[in-house]
Amino acid sequence: EQARLLGPAEIRELAARLGVAPTKKLGQNFLHDPNTIRRIVAAAELDPADVALEVGPGLGSLTLGLLPYAAHVHAVEIDPPLAAALGATAAERAPGLVDRLTIHHGDAMRVTAAEFDPPPTALVANLPYNVAVPVVLHLLAELPGIRHGLVMVQKEVADRLTAAPGSKIYGIPSVKLAWYASSRQAGKVPPPVFWPVPNVDSGLVSFTRREPPRDDVPRDAVFAVVDAAFAQRRKTLRAALAGWAGSAPAAETLLRKAGIDPSARGEMLDVHAFAALAAAKL
Ligand code: SAM
Repeated sequence: EQARLLGPAEIRELAARLGVAPTKKLGQNFLHDPNTIRRIVAAAELDPADVALEVGPGLGSLTLGLLPYAAHVHAVEIDPPLAAALGATAAERAPGLVDRLTIHHGDAMRVTAAEFDPPPTALVANLPYNVAVPVVLHLLAELPGIRHGLVMVQKEVADRLTAAPGSKIYGIPSVKLAWYASSRQAGKVPPPVFWPVPNVDSGLVSFTRREPPRDDVPRDAVFAVVDAAFAQRRKTLRAALAGWAGSAPAAETLLRKAGIDPSARGEMLDVHAFAALAAAKL
């Protein structure tokens, strides 16, 4: 059973019928191109047994694309009229598949595992761009059942999320995502496939969860030293971590204990090095 995807005319008609005026505040740029939907769904590499979590279904463009390819779809939407209308859209355009859909009206930044039955195994979303990174990190922390995912974000954010140590754009999002998952870019998406048309390119990021780099140090301790190291990214780690360690000499001692050159900069360290550094301070 297939779903009838939403094209440009249907998106506008649906928005008009619901009285929806897309807002920047909620990152509302709706996909109105079935080919892009098919591309995203293919890139998500869903297993038929996967339980998909979609953040921000909006008018339902991607939700309809996902329904035929997942055992269940949880859609979390913050905007009341959109959350309220999604069920009818699915019933109309994918009548045989609506039983697979659970609509959650709420903030993806605040969801907890207890809200989802069955538990999500895959995150697939065209994310609201202003909160994309914190949403992904929150969901990976909160929902351990998520094994893989495919998210669309601003291209620049896709670059940062997937950056490797040593590159200029490597930073906090890169290290924190690497704590949970290995990731790669899965393509670029041009502005005209959205309504309204954004002024930036978008990029697809595919990720696969892996074991945390170390199990002898709490994630929060690792993330604290990551935040400190990049707060002043042009300084050497010895200087940048003085506050975190108590003093510059204390930072130097901890860096040496972790086998890291104190004159290096944060952008040189991979997630394992950050974990070693956090462990040195425990
Ligand atoms: N998935 C739809 C599509 O591809 O056409 C809409 C994507 S649009 C970029 C982002 C969606 O996320 C909007 O529907 C917006 O209302 C919703 N949204 C924004 N912030 C949210 C949040 N914190 N939690 C859940 N949904 C949110």
